[in-house]
Amino acid sequence: MYWDRENETMPREQLQALQLERLRLTIERVYRNVPFYRERFTKAGIKPSSVRSLEDLRRLPFTTKQDLRDNYPFGLFAVSMSDVVRVHASSGTTGKPTVVGYTKNDINTWAELAARSLACAGGTKFDVVQNAYGYGLFTGGLGLHYGAERLGAAVVPVSGGNTRRQLMLMQDFGTTILTCTPSYALYLAEEGQKMGLDFKKMPLKAGIFGAEPWSERMRRQLEEKLDLVALDIYGLSEIMGPGVAMECPAKEGMHIFEDHFIPEIIDPDTGEVLPAGSEGELVITTITKEAFPLIRYRTRDITRFNPEPCPCGRTHLRIRRITGRTDDMLIIRGVNVFPSQVESVLLESGETEPHYLLVVDRKGNLDQLEIWVEVGEELFSDKVRQLEDLEQRLRERIESVLGISARVRLVEPNTIPRSEGKARRVVDRREI
Ligand code: ADP
Ligand code: ZN
Repeated sequence: MYWDRENETMPREQLQALQLERLRLTIERVYRNVPFYRERFTKAGIKPSSVRSLEDLRRLPFTTKQDLRDNYPFGLFAVSMSDVVRVHASSGTTGKPTVVGYTKNDINTWAELAARSLACAGGTKFDVVQNAYGYGLFTGGLGLHYGAERLGAAVVPVSGGNTRRQLMLMQDFGTTILTCTPSYALYLAEEGQKMGLDFKKMPLKAGIFGAEPWSERMRRQLEEKLDLVALDIYGLSEIMGPGVAMECPAKEGMHIFEDHFIPEIIDPDTGEVLPAGSEGELVITTITKEAFPLIRYRTRDITRFNPEPCPCGRTHLRIRRITGRTDDMLIIRGVNVFPSQVESVLLESGETEPHYLLVVDRKGNLDQLEIWVEVGEELFSDKVRQLEDLEQRLRERIESVLGISARVRLVEPNTIPRSEGKARRVVDRREI
């Protein structure tokens, strides 16, 4: 079902004309209002007037997560703070998050695109949307919340966690659409089974699952266990949040909403734009955002376009499932985690060796993180008490920096395998 038929099914020629017009306005605006872009463009010998076609976009420099960090917190905003009505943030590598801002119009656009995503999964004002994405600085919760309200559905803002209560509400309220991470959905399914719920007798019809990688195997399990249609949703806070791209019932990729974003796929090593269908890093330019426009932002997400026309009638390009990242970011229980965050905690404590390993596993559909850290010989020969103390201190500190709990395992010197090249910091045992 279309939410905005005109824009979702716009003939590609017309869509491209709209993109060019919006791109030019965005370029002019960032050139005028954001010193960072003015300097970058000037260095590259580009004036706003040099962008005359969509192909000219390729001449513009990329923007990276590092640029966002260097301009922390508000340095890349293109409006004054008096026009910003909301900020969100996602985790950063050294404890400083990536901060993004929205004007009233930006929030409006986001609500429209989240409503569009829900409608794409068959959502209407008659639905009860149980939104189990986390509320807070993370964009998942509030993003879909506003979308569900815009759609006119009844939204249940339960946020994540508290699984038994989720299941009780799901039953009592007659939830028809579930929105959460795919791993949490599986967990809900299995806990529900244990509680004796019969999902086949419940009115659940669609699940909108995203914020972390998943697979066709998980889709089959979710559809079977929960008796619903499971669809993929993509987003990242830098670009907006959930609703940048949404899978339609054809299940052959997510339509990226090209009336607001221009996607490119590049070779992550050379930066070269790749032909449609090749796998590479997704780069996105926002063309309607006011507070925080991004030009050629390198998402670090690996995917490819599905350039085939879609039977659903939407004309926007589709991207395939995200298959990985070009950096070492992990997504654990929906939270972004960089090994370097753990490293900074260890360095700061000064009580351990610089050898550590993150071991990630999925037990009963819940991600678990264990951190192995080497400590000096002296400590090991000392009292157990001291080791336990250190373990506890590290655990608390890591939890507060990462935002998720982890087990800390102190190990003897030389137990963590050394590598000859780049140190291997992560063992990911999850099968998705
Ligand atoms: P959000 O708040 O929208 O989850 P974050 O900035 O916290 O955004 O995280 C965004 C990252 O989450 C993306 O860059 C991508 O790596 C991952 N992600 C989001 N949606 C999906 C998805 N459907 N499949 C795989 N990975 C996803
Ligand atoms: Zn489609």
